[in-house]
Amino acid sequence: MSKTIIVSNRLPISLRHRNGRFEFKPSAGGLATGLGSIYKEGENIWIGWPGNTVDDPEQRAEIILELHELKMAPVFLSKEDVEQFYEGFSNETLWPAFHYFTQYMVYNPEHWEAYVRVNQKFCDAILKKAGPEDTIWIHDYQLLLLPQMLREVLPNATIAFFQHIPFPSYEILRMIPWRKELLSGVCGADLIGFHTYDDMRHFLSAVGRITGLSNESGYIQAENRIINVDSFPMGIDYHKFAKQAKSKRTLRFVEEFGKQVEDQKLLLTIDRLDYSKGIPQRIQAFNQLLEQHPELHGKVSMIMIVVPSRDKVQSYKELKEEIDLLVGRINSEYSTLNWVPVHYFYRSFPFEELSAFYNMSDIALVTPLRDGMNLVCKEFVASKTDQTGVLILSEMAGASKELQDAILVNPNDRQGVVDAIYNALSMPQTEQIARMSSMQESLKKYDVFQWVKVFMDRLDHVKQKQEELTSKDVDAKVMNEIQTSFKKAKNAILFLDYDGTLTGFHSDPQKALPDTELKEIISDLSPKAQVVIISGRDKDTLGKWFEGQDIDMIAEHGVWVKRKEDKKTDWELYAEVEDSWKDDIRKVMEYYVLRTPGAFIEEKHHSLVWHYRKVESGLGDLRMRELFSHLKYMARGYNLQVLEGNMVLEIKRPDINKGRAATAMMKGIEYDFVLAIGDDWTDEDTFKAMPKNAYSIRVGYAYTQANYNIKSFRQVRQLLQKLTS
Ligand code: UDP
Repeated sequence: MSKTIIVSNRLPISLRHRNGRFEFKPSAGGLATGLGSIYKEGENIWIGWPGNTVDDPEQRAEIILELHELKMAPVFLSKEDVEQFYEGFSNETLWPAFHYFTQYMVYNPEHWEAYVRVNQKFCDAILKKAGPEDTIWIHDYQLLLLPQMLREVLPNATIAFFQHIPFPSYEILRMIPWRKELLSGVCGADLIGFHTYDDMRHFLSAVGRITGLSNESGYIQAENRIINVDSFPMGIDYHKFAKQAKSKRTLRFVEEFGKQVEDQKLLLTIDRLDYSKGIPQRIQAFNQLLEQHPELHGKVSMIMIVVPSRDKVQSYKELKEEIDLLVGRINSEYSTLNWVPVHYFYRSFPFEELSAFYNMSDIALVTPLRDGMNLVCKEFVASKTDQTGVLILSEMAGASKELQDAILVNPNDRQGVVDAIYNALSMPQTEQIARMSSMQESLKKYDVFQWVKVFMDRLDHVKQKQEELTSKDVDAKVMNEIQTSFKKAKNAILFLDYDGTLTGFHSDPQKALPDTELKEIISDLSPKAQVVIISGRDKDTLGKWFEGQDIDMIAEHGVWVKRKEDKKTDWELYAEVEDSWKDDIRKVMEYYVLRTPGAFIEEKHHSLVWHYRKVESGLGDLRMRELFSHLKYMARGYNLQVLEGNMVLEIKRPDINKGRAATAMMKGIEYDFVLAIGDDWTDEDTFKAMPKNAYSIRVGYAYTQANYNIKSFRQVRQLLQKLTS
């Protein structure tokens, strides 16, 4: 039976040394809770680093056994791995880059090597447990290479990836020397999830620009499969927080803490120590509030919890010193004997106490400079069971996309934050309740369990979609069937498209000429079958490229034909050409060429083609859309058709197409073997025109009228070679 394997850098436990022994401390984090429903089931398992180095083989064996009981398996990392892979590449290159702190980015090739090495360690550990049919769900930026490493060994496995931190714009990603390897690594997955739509579109744009893989509606068209990219905002265990906030233990803490702060209004901030959280900026905003509003002195104070994190990394050490200094300054300036403006805690709190802080605070001030999601703001909302309280939330946090009823602020706009706090302090209770209850509704519905369910459902969906496409794959069995049927045939015909089918694409279309291998394939085939090159290319190019070959040619989607029997005679007009429309249309296209460096026009007898393959990526699409809507209206008047192709926009007469030409070619002749291969929408006309017993094959994994799909032009060549072998 197939199982599910969860993989993350850290296991949902921490391994600690105590009195010469190891002990495990379970993590109560949101991810562990959400995924608990998965990894604790049946044969499922969670694989990751236990959070401490263990060198002694005996101790390792003991830990493996103990973790096995907890449905976990460890990946052991050496001290060097931790320094270079975790603290180094993950936290000094990827973390700052993905949070837009490029000034902290370190480019260290040794760190990169460690990142590759440790991803491989994870891969090896997974392969010890995984079967070919298993589902593997990988989490976060430390393991970006892992999906592709696994895909190479388990080509049919179901692999999903979720990134918990932001995905930056292409402009930032491209600064990393290893960006291509990172993107190709993630693209080994079938489903790639992010918290927000913005992260997802940044990822898709980077994949398009860096790896050249295009996408449509969140589906990346990889060479042999489709990959779905989508946004799944992660929720919290809502009821756990709501229930805890009302529990006796929490209420006792509320009473105890409340005595110390009396009737002051409380502002709460909770973060891990990190420069992305904007902690110094927040203290400065609070300072400015006190400066501008002396009437608030003694009436409002801030509870600031900073959870220690990554304190071995230099930038974090410096941040800690800066925070200490700012808190010292504000407290020394404003404190009185019975009022301290900032209650600062540099430590973590147990759940009940955290819950008490959420419960008793009037305002949560959550103002990260950048945050993938941010769970603290959601936990605050869930804990406000009487629905009073105000959330001030940074628009740079992923959560702001969902929590539109918070007071949203730009954390860099200090005065804006000061005003938001001031407004929150004076917000009428009815408004507080209206905003809070609306946010609670949404968080209740999209809790962490729903997040897991939606993600897993989507994974099933994409696998099904892939299956629909690959069920039509030209595999070894189909190849043999086509070969046998070809060998038996007395009268065979092959319709072969050229670009993308017999050869790859080239940025200069005139350079995509047939190579020696292709010429040999055609000469081996032509004595045994009628070979028809059926292309959108102009007749002169095709004529020159295939000169002397014993084949038929259909050029310009069916305008011209050249029969093999009349080698000497010229091309014959297959369709009557009427081109009085061209001057007007050409003028419009020329205007778009002038505005778009790299674009050019190709003129064919029955059509005009606007090429944008060499235009800056993104700009080409934009201009093509503009030109499309411009031409659409003109086309109606001339009874023409505007069609989008592979990096081209073509305007032509609708009644001229490859299907019509192919039908005319076969008219009155009985063929016992018909094969048509093509790679784009113009070939769909050929496929539609084929007789029932024909083999029709579309190159690439798009939806098609053809009976089969094939991976690329290389496989097409293999198939054609097989026919004559
Ligand atoms: N947290 C905790 N103990 C504390 C303070 C915070 O367990 O003393 C938890 C908090 O409840 C939240 C998490 O730490 O679930 C912080 O998650 P968030 O997404 O806000 O930030 P991250 O640290 O993941 O960047």
